[in-house]
Amino acid sequence: MSHAIVVGAGIAGIATAIRLRRRGYQVTVMEANHYPGGKLHAIEQDGYRFDLGPSLFTMPHLVTELFELYKKKPDQYFQFTEKEIICNYFWEDGHRFSAVSNLEDFVANASKSFNEPKKNIETYLKRNQKKYDLTAMLFLEKSLHKISTYLTTQTLKSIIQLGKLDVNSSLDAVNKKSFKNPKLVQLFNRYATYNGSSPYKTPGIMSMIPHLEMYHGTFFPNGGMHRIGMSLYEFAIEQGVDFQFNQPVKRIVVQDETAIGIIANKKRYDADIVVSNMDIFPTYKKLLKGHRYPKKTLEQERSSSALIFYWGVSKEFPELDLHNILFSESYPKEFNAIFDQKTLYKDPTIYINVTSKEQPSDAPKGHENWFVMINAPGNHGQDWDDLKQTARKNIIAKINSVLKTDIEKFITTEHIMDPMAIENSTSSHQGALYGAASNDKFAAFLRHPNFSKSIKNLYFCGGSVHPGGGIPLCLLSAKIVDDLAPNPTPNA
Ligand SMILES: Cc1cc2nc3c(=O)[nH]c(=O)nc-3n(C[C@H](O)[C@H](O)[C@H](O)COP(=O)(O)OP(=O)(O)OC[C@H]3O[C@@H](n4cnc5c(N)ncnc54)[C@H](O)[C@@H]3O)c2cc1C
Repeated sequence: MSHAIVVGAGIAGIATAIRLRRRGYQVTVMEANHYPGGKLHAIEQDGYRFDLGPSLFTMPHLVTELFELYKKKPDQYFQFTEKEIICNYFWEDGHRFSAVSNLEDFVANASKSFNEPKKNIETYLKRNQKKYDLTAMLFLEKSLHKISTYLTTQTLKSIIQLGKLDVNSSLDAVNKKSFKNPKLVQLFNRYATYNGSSPYKTPGIMSMIPHLEMYHGTFFPNGGMHRIGMSLYEFAIEQGVDFQFNQPVKRIVVQDETAIGIIANKKRYDADIVVSNMDIFPTYKKLLKGHRYPKKTLEQERSSSALIFYWGVSKEFPELDLHNILFSESYPKEFNAIFDQKTLYKDPTIYINVTSKEQPSDAPKGHENWFVMINAPGNHGQDWDDLKQTARKNIIAKINSVLKTDIEKFITTEHIMDPMAIENSTSSHQGALYGAASNDKFAAFLRHPNFSKSIKNLYFCGGSVHPGGGIPLCLLSAKIVDDLAPNPTPNA
């Protein structure tokens, strides 16, 4: 049987393994950590459960289709529920808004709350849908680096209607043109952070991100986000995928410009194809040292990282839901600090995720498990101890002022993760959450393809390559690798 080796058991690595196994490959996943999932990890501490990484789950069909590939019923392995409230928003001046998933209600509520004509909101949402319909197939589901992708009527349609995609304006400019109320502009600017970019730099086409969330829904997996990775991992094992943990791969072995295996723990493992789920930067700099590397792609600006405080909180806050945002008073200054000055802003936008709202067993009775995150620059060697201390004070002061509380009194346990820790635990260059940032209109084209142009039988999946970071796009990268990989030969 042909043998495929996948380097890394992140969500994309696991999904790729499941797909290649289905094709008839014998598949081995080599993982540096002692656990699967990469950024999709969780901890339990003092009676609380915390998802350490992703908290927002969209496009669940990209998970369930992996079970369906094997003609299995997905809900035997993985269950989830759709959320009615997408996010609760809070501003310093006391303004609050709850974004609901029902679109008609969203438009009516937003129009009232922000004193914005309904028509402005409806026109904006329709334009976002158009952008998504014109480009999703082209930009997200196919390789951007194969000529065949461009020879379709869908691509021609997109090119003809380029003007509708807002590629020449920033997301902020598009939002300012669409709405009178600056709070609504800020609310829709936030979607730039879904791929770790700045709304003042990322192109207006990114307004298709709220379309994804608002039309296709947001979900919560039973058991928490961690279950997404774990249920796929368990399923992969059931299908015969072999996982090897504590196996940091040191090299991809290349002979005659063809990948023929890997080296881990001083041992060589042969393979017919190799798929790297490791971040593309260290894949070239470490595993492919000495080979020609795509300079422009590796020099691309990285997405933002994050500073997260995981707090056990001995009080319930009825005004909070699963997803909550406490906005900064100056969004431009916050993004300038992150992307230009590579530091944290003194009045950061705070995201609070509370999974015990959905799953009470995640915290003791009468308590909540808070995941308190602010966007952060990548790791450039800053003094993180100092930055963390200052950020903690600023975050507590802001929560106290917005939620009218004294939060420190209720913190019973704490765990902290900073960009350095994200980099160290997953080998993500600079601790970026989503690989490269989309801070200019050519970023999508500079992302590394899902295959190597110079080394045969070498493929790439995961958040640092096409089509991008975030769970759904990582799952799509696995699908593209599956499309590109050759058919296995039975007696290889
Ligand atoms: C704090 C945080 C919040 C986020 N929020 C969201 C969210 O709300 N929604 C969302 O969709 N996405 C979110 N993301 C992004 C999402 O987590 C990632 O895009 C996705 O999980 C990346 O998956 P991946 O398969 O690319 O790789 P990773 O999860 O980075 O996994 C890569 C794996 O490869 C292993 N590895 C690396 N090098 C080697 C080697 N040489 N040998 C062996 N193994 C190796 C690593 O140990 C790791 O297990 C968030 C991320 C973080 C950190």
